[in-house]
Amino acid sequence: MPQTHSVKLNAVLLKDGVLRASSKDTEFAQKVLKAAKMTNESGKCLCKPVEPLRPKLRQLSVRSRSDKYHLARFPNTGDQHHPRCGFYAAPSDLSGTGCYVPDVREEQGDRLRIQLNFGRAIGENVDRDILVNAQHDAGRGRARYRRMTALGLLHELWEASKLNLFTGFHRPSLTAQREVLMDAASNVIWGGGALDERLIVIAPGGSEQGRGAEIQESHGTIDQAIQANERIVIVGALREIRESRYGKPIIALSEGLANYEIRLQALEPLKEFWERRYHSALHAHACRRGGIENPYISYDPDFWIFGLFVGEPKRGEGRGEKSPRYVIDVVSGGFMLTSSEYIPVDSSHEIRLLRQLVESEREFLKPLRFEDTRDLVLPDFLLLDVGEDSYPLEVYGMREETYQHRKAEKERYYQDKFAGRHWAWVADSLVRSEVQDFHAACQMLPGKRCDLA
Ligand SMILES: [Zn+2]
Repeated sequence: MPQTHSVKLNAVLLKDGVLRASSKDTEFAQKVLKAAKMTNESGKCLCKPVEPLRPKLRQLSVRSRSDKYHLARFPNTGDQHHPRCGFYAAPSDLSGTGCYVPDVREEQGDRLRIQLNFGRAIGENVDRDILVNAQHDAGRGRARYRRMTALGLLHELWEASKLNLFTGFHRPSLTAQREVLMDAASNVIWGGGALDERLIVIAPGGSEQGRGAEIQESHGTIDQAIQANERIVIVGALREIRESRYGKPIIALSEGLANYEIRLQALEPLKEFWERRYHSALHAHACRRGGIENPYISYDPDFWIFGLFVGEPKRGEGRGEKSPRYVIDVVSGGFMLTSSEYIPVDSSHEIRLLRQLVESEREFLKPLRFEDTRDLVLPDFLLLDVGEDSYPLEVYGMREETYQHRKAEKERYYQDKFAGRHWAWVADSLVRSEVQDFHAACQMLPGKRCDLA
């Protein structure tokens, strides 16, 4: 997905000289970009790609939006950049985006047009059963998706915001990430309009003053959606799903929705579907709230569960929980578990490995799966600080019934894509020596090389 604002990149070269992205909003940067635009000049990104063997043009075009100039990459060139570069996008073999038929995600200029399984207009049909949308791709024998679900969209935003990348720095604040997520959404076109026009990101923390402005902004977003008879999308960290006095599931976020004067409610069948589909994440979360022992908690006491909810807003009758200013009927939603650094994880074993990587200040990327598909083979993590190429890391859960089959499939993948290079650890929580095994396996992790861009 094209990145145009708040991007962190090394530098961008225009004919007139080097322009640092951090200064792109200054008068000088705007002047340089405007001059380049007038002469139809393109830029070149100076980031150092991970795999130098592929042709790397990393060309950038100058674009303007509401009288401001910015740089954008050319469509489908995101994988030519370094993963740390703001213009990077994972190639389809390192991201769940490979599970979609091509028109689900279409880069158009510096924007990404997506086809979701829920429409923007209120009342439009929601395809709840994802299997209905899967079609057989005869060539590769894989099911592909004709539409993106709420979870896919959550992963899309996370990937575009680089929240699945750890560069060895301290944990970012979610308040800062809110801006990054909104920026990413401004480049996404959903049902004829930009996604950020209908998006509310509720990040925990932040100052009271900042929160006041966010609340105002969210009310503006909901009012506009109501006027346009359109749905809204809410992203936030889940606190709980509880029952209202009338037995309706109410979704509570870690930053109280009461402050936002919003009631987020779903119908019982949707809650039941979530409990089946996101069982381990929701169960881990429930255990933490109930003080019950759970592997997720022991490896990362600060893990989060993020949700993306698509809902139909209407005005409530007043203030307070009983009759809030807005009532939003959720029609679709997806959840993901993340570490305390907001990096998504699929299992407690992955959290354990992630803690090891974070504590040793490694630079790594978590490839995101987007949809609930086991067909797609992806590495669990990718180390980025080992030299010129990335290095895949794999955690096998031995208790999985399909373990042997899965392992064979993954090894074939590593043979094809990485000439067999990969690190693997077989996690079996039934074996007592597991802790030792894990530490022994970690000794074999490839060492860090510091000569990177
Ligand atoms: Zn770049």
